[in-house]
Amino acid sequence: MDIEIIEMAERKAKFILRNSSPAMANALRRTLLSDLPKMAIHKVDFYLGPLTDDNGRECESSTPLFDEIIAHRLGMIPVPTDLDLFVPQEECTCGGAGCPNCTIEYFLNKSGPCTVYSGDLLPMVSPELREKFKVKDEFIPIVELINDQGVNISATAVMGTAKRHVKWQVCNGVGYKYMPVVRVDPAAASRDDVLECRDVCPKKVFDVKDGRLVVVDEMGCSLCRACTEHVKDGGVTVTGDDTTFLFKFETDGSYTAQQALDEALKVLREEAKEFAEQIENIGPESELEPKPPVIEEPEPEPEPEDI
Ligand SMILES: [Zn+2]
Repeated sequence: MDIEIIEMAERKAKFILRNSSPAMANALRRTLLSDLPKMAIHKVDFYLGPLTDDNGRECESSTPLFDEIIAHRLGMIPVPTDLDLFVPQEECTCGGAGCPNCTIEYFLNKSGPCTVYSGDLLPMVSPELREKFKVKDEFIPIVELINDQGVNISATAVMGTAKRHVKWQVCNGVGYKYMPVVRVDPAAASRDDVLECRDVCPKKVFDVKDGRLVVVDEMGCSLCRACTEHVKDGGVTVTGDDTTFLFKFETDGSYTAQQALDEALKVLREEAKEFAEQIENIGPESELEPKPPVIEEPEPEPEPEDI
């Protein structure tokens, strides 16, 4: 399996997967979607009572939304994730109680009139890490407050995967297609119906040069086959190469696209290794055959002792 990067932006990747198979391409897609661990807010504490904001104004801790809605919105905010610093809570040495190795604490204190945004969440970490764990998308609206309304929240982010909840999903728009192979028969390239393919193709794969149809953007082909339906005698052929795939995905900002791809390949490699070990441990085929159930004779009741 080889990977050739076409585009690698901060949150967006496009690459070619070569010498692979549909099963492997799908395994990579599913890993990107649901097996990457990331941090997301899982527990929210609301302070109830009078509040004082940063300017010393007093207000009540009340909002126009139910606390559950605010908590849900906070859960869906992408939280930056560093896999070198954090471990899943259930694997942590704290035994799941919560500690700086498995949780990030966020704090939010705002009073109206204002709109509370994701950027108002402040990470409670050491000053040198503060910028790193600040939410990357700062303008996701959470709630709008009017005069005398305020909100004071502490929220805890923990690690998880999208198998459990979509708030732990790192990648979106994960998709691939078979690499298109578009061929124009040289003997038919200047025929009228073949030349019309330039306008028939919705993806502008063809152009006409020197009175002949040529392929100018093979990768842009969506395999819709509008051209092969237009030219019925095989003057133009379109096939999908099932060993090469054009892959693309985006991330929500908790990982960079490069980190997501690296981590997905790592997870896939570890799962394959684990699977191979399990197969090896099964042993010879004869041991797989079900054994007849052993029926144990009930032990005879002990004779009552004379007292
Ligand atoms: Zn811990």
